[in-house]
Amino acid sequence: MKIARTIAELPRLSDSVGLVPTMGAFHAGHLALFEAARQENDVVVASLFVNPAQFGEREDLERYPRDEERDAELAEEAGVDVLFTPSPEEMYPEGYATWVDVGELGRKLEGEFRPGHFRGVATVCLKLFNIVRPDRAYFGQKDAQQAAVIKQLVRDLNLDLEIRVVPTVRDDDGLALSSRNAYLSPEERETALALPRALATGDLGRARELLAGLDIDYVEEANFNGQRVLAAAVRVGKTRLIDNVVLEIPCQDSSWLGRTNKGEPK
Ligand code: AMP
Repeated sequence: MKIARTIAELPRLSDSVGLVPTMGAFHAGHLALFEAARQENDVVVASLFVNPAQFGEREDLERYPRDEERDAELAEEAGVDVLFTPSPEEMYPEGYATWVDVGELGRKLEGEFRPGHFRGVATVCLKLFNIVRPDRAYFGQKDAQQAAVIKQLVRDLNLDLEIRVVPTVRDDDGLALSSRNAYLSPEERETALALPRALATGDLGRARELLAGLDIDYVEEANFNGQRVLAAAVRVGKTRLIDNVVLEIPCQDSSWLGRTNKGEPK
């Protein structure tokens, strides 16, 4: 696997290219995206960039988990060909001025509690698409609104690539894998399990009941480009967690909860 630390170090790629944009601290959720990209592209590029533009002023940019050495090992084992780790200075050089705003979709739910977040996400993804020129890019259902924002960006700006969305990977206890889970103490993790349990009901009223007592940003049914989801964001101690389930699929089908990190249906 090649590690490209600058745009100039990226190899020129003529085969089909799959891009997986990430902020690192890899877990089985990231690995599922690498695997999906591996299956349908000649070359897999993973970007590792903790994008300052998508963090609010009082958010966790400074303490966001970083371990490039471990990430490089995991990416290589997962069959990633190129790990692209640009610097913030190269991505946002002095005088940087252009931003992508996807409108109302970027201002509701997550966007309401994280103003400017999706502007930062859409902008960095457009830059990564222009730099890497992938045929396909891979995103997680875990961040359902983000995936919808990216699809909107691709459609509105006539970008020539396909967006793939990979089901949420969960731990054995049901908690969706997230780099931010590392912040949770054992007690907080126990409290956090209310989130997947509430969403697993697939019912907004029940979910609200089960989450009562937690510090809730929102629990809502949302329609993202025709996909109905039950989505929530809660705070457990200093950690903010988001999760969602797709509502279209009947509840009898237990695969709707996603997969465990061992790849088994939940
Ligand atoms: P991040 O590094 O947290 O920005 O995530 C990079 C990509 O991995 C995003 O497209 C996320 O939606 C996706 N992702 C994060 N957690 C999971 C998960 N538990 N299951 C599937 N995809 C995930």
